[in-house]
Amino acid sequence: MIEISQLEKIYSTGKDSMIAVKSTNLTIKEGEILGIVGESGSGKSTLGKMIIGLEEPSKGSITYKGQQLWNKQKYNRVQAGEIQTVFQDPQSSLDPRMTVKDIILEPLLAFPKLERKTKGNKERLLQLIKRVGLKEEHLDRYPHEFSGGQRQRIAIARALITDPSFIVLDEPTSALDVSVQAQVLNLLKELQKERNLTYLFISHNMSVIRYMCERVAVMFKGEMVEIGDTKELFENPQHPYTQKLLSSVLTIQKDEDKQSIVL
Ligand code: ADP
Ligand code: MG
Repeated sequence: MIEISQLEKIYSTGKDSMIAVKSTNLTIKEGEILGIVGESGSGKSTLGKMIIGLEEPSKGSITYKGQQLWNKQKYNRVQAGEIQTVFQDPQSSLDPRMTVKDIILEPLLAFPKLERKTKGNKERLLQLIKRVGLKEEHLDRYPHEFSGGQRQRIAIARALITDPSFIVLDEPTSALDVSVQAQVLNLLKELQKERNLTYLFISHNMSVIRYMCERVAVMFKGEMVEIGDTKELFENPQHPYTQKLLSSVLTIQKDEDKQSIVL
């Protein structure tokens, strides 16, 4: 579904520049949940942003179903809503002045054809809001009236309104309490199966990755250092950095740190 080749991102700030993503190759297969794991600052979000069109690659290419996503510094939007995203922090990613209904419907505005097809299609909106675990009366309320978990459900409905095939989930549950986190992860898993979605699932949490992903790629300082089936990678990590990530998970779980999650 997605082919990433020699992809690179260099951020320039004044005189300084830093390589956030180093010459990366990656294939995302249709229907899979591919995890990206790595500590803060390793380039995970930058990679995701280049795929969804929020950051322009410095080098390399990304194709979606064989079509270039970036052409001459322009992001190709012909896929009309096929690629969507859910960010980490539901607080800051939802416009506080918009009602839930307008937030969920907003992505359709970018795609006039889709909008015409679905406008006034209240049934579809109601079905979607119920599917993510919210109620009809929530539609006229504002984001601040909801809990963190509910806000993330709103963000998920918003991502699904265009009927996408591929979703980049960037730390979608990292800001949530452990029990709420498990509920949202289960919802995401169910939706992926029901709708035959493909996910790029970004997380710094190895336990969450193990629960969610069939394959996982490990990023370290902008480089993809290891990629493999999740089970194999957890049982037999090859790269020292992956080994370190895994050993810290075990320590965290023993201490029952609130970061850890046992599903
Ligand atoms: P992660 O999501 O793994 O935490 P990021 O992709 O957000 O990592 O960041 C990778 C590196 O790029 C970090 O060192 C970060 O400080 C830097 N970075 C991210 N966004 C920008 C930006 N807009 N301008 C300059 N540097 C950035
Ligand atoms: Mg990030």
